Amino acid sequence: MKIKKFTLGMYQENCYVVSCSDTKSAFVVDPGVYNPNMVNYIEENHLNIESIILTHAHGDHICGLMETAKKFNAPIYIHKSEASVLNDGKKNFSEEICGCKIEIEADRLLKDGKIIQIGKMEVKIIHTPGHTPGGICIHVGDVLISGDTLFEESIGRTDFKYSSTDALVNAIKEKLYLLPDHTRVYPGHGMDTTIGHEKKRNPFVKGQ
Ligand SMILES: [Zn+2]
Ligand SMILES: [Zn+2]
Repeated sequence: MKIKKFTLGMYQENCYVVSCSDTKSAFVVDPGVYNPNMVNYIEENHLNIESIILTHAHGDHICGLMETAKKFNAPIYIHKSEASVLNDGKKNFSEEICGCKIEIEADRLLKDGKIIQIGKMEVKIIHTPGHTPGGICIHVGDVLISGDTLFEESIGRTDFKYSSTDALVNAIKEKLYLLPDHTRVYPGHGMDTTIGHEKKRNPFVKGQ
């Protein structure tokens, strides 16, 4: 398995391309901007993009979604509780962030615990509401893609109307901190970290 990060746009959003080394099957996470470097990377490595998985539907994670989906003819996956954010330009802030209203119906709605097979990779969906109602983390191999739920020594904003600090903290404690300490965490913004580091050092959610 290989994970490649592209940091995009003025919000410095992290988009990831995760690929199976054996089969070249791959998925894209959060194409915040349609990015030629990402397209080149996918084409040069002959990757077959089987889906685009969104950790959540905020504008900084979806401005490049339609173009990327069209380019690779890839279906869009999102948690079922996030569909109402993806199809509502006010809730996803696309007008302010992307400069145009983005309202999209996903191709497939996910739920907690769902496992998607992509090549030889088992991609597990972990529902982590709080920043948004249908925020997810994506667990594959010994990697966790954490969206705007968990950052290096920080957590996602919870000052939106549909946010919940309690839900966010609970999800991190009860779902993410159960993963092995060596699990590498790739967040929606900023540097990667590990579960073990966050359990010790995250000032917002302490682990055991
Ligand atoms: Zn967000
Ligand atoms: Zn974000």
